[in-house]
Amino acid sequence: MPRLSSLALARATLDRATERRRDPDWVAARWADERARAVPVLAGDVPVADDLTSLVYVSPAALDALGGADPAGDAGEGGTEERYFLGLDEADVPYFAVAFTGASEDLGPDVLLDGRPAEKVRWAGLREVGGTLPDRDAGVVVHAVALVNWHAAHQHCARCGARTRPTDGGHVRRCPACETQHFPRTDPAIIVLVTDAEDRCLLGRQGSWPVGRFSTLAGFVEPGEPLEHAVAREVHEETGIHVVDAEYAGSQPWPFPSSLMLGFFARAISTRIQVDEEEIVEARWLSRADLKAAVESGELLLPGEVSIARRLIETWYGSPLSGSW
Ligand SMILES: [Zn+2]
Repeated sequence: MPRLSSLALARATLDRATERRRDPDWVAARWADERARAVPVLAGDVPVADDLTSLVYVSPAALDALGGADPAGDAGEGGTEERYFLGLDEADVPYFAVAFTGASEDLGPDVLLDGRPAEKVRWAGLREVGGTLPDRDAGVVVHAVALVNWHAAHQHCARCGARTRPTDGGHVRRCPACETQHFPRTDPAIIVLVTDAEDRCLLGRQGSWPVGRFSTLAGFVEPGEPLEHAVAREVHEETGIHVVDAEYAGSQPWPFPSSLMLGFFARAISTRIQVDEEEIVEARWLSRADLKAAVESGELLLPGEVSIARRLIETWYGSPLSGSW
């Protein structure tokens, strides 16, 4: 099977400038750069143009004037709006994420970099705009949302419980009490399209999903576990099918809140389905003709277009399919 290319959430273009962001003065100077662009994140949503084809950035100076982000701190003090350095574009324009705590109405045309009137701005999440934004903006949102999610859930030291503060442009939190450095967490999860000897694919439905909604099988990688073992374990646990030859297909971040989806194709050496009734309540073997008929009749709904699951299914199928959850 071919590798997956141009995954919707794997299109980042910025230089993260990892060496330079360790210097708080350098980061502060980037925030003060009049060309700097910030993306406010509010409950996972970001401001976008109403046609969903561009991100609407905010001016750091205008945010400072709103009294939110702390202009003196490295990445902002805890308790105010923290800001995190994302990277530089090809013209060295700096980009930041802001854990926005204000109201969306605060961001009027005087704050928005393109001066867009409020009625031409929408707040939307990655599932909706991950595929419609251009490469740079899609990469900015994925990075911003993942980082804001991590900071929101890691305000205290896991070792001693003291309140931590962001440093390294927001890519580390440091504990002032015990000096421990905490790094942003990414949770690896495998997602796999299984095929059998007749080249049918195996799709499953989770118990929490409505009837008709199917996807590839997926699960988190456990500590001490190689990816290939995770693929075989998850498929067997959820459907009773034994697989071999797990073949890596590509990856994309999935910041809901912090996963990295690692896509695989794998070959089944058994076909008798026995679902676990916990995670997966229904699983089916589908030929290409079966899948086409089920999708066209509306009997089966495919995962969303920004998901790696959708791309795994379409790559096996051989062309794009219509409709989604
Ligand atoms: Zn500590």
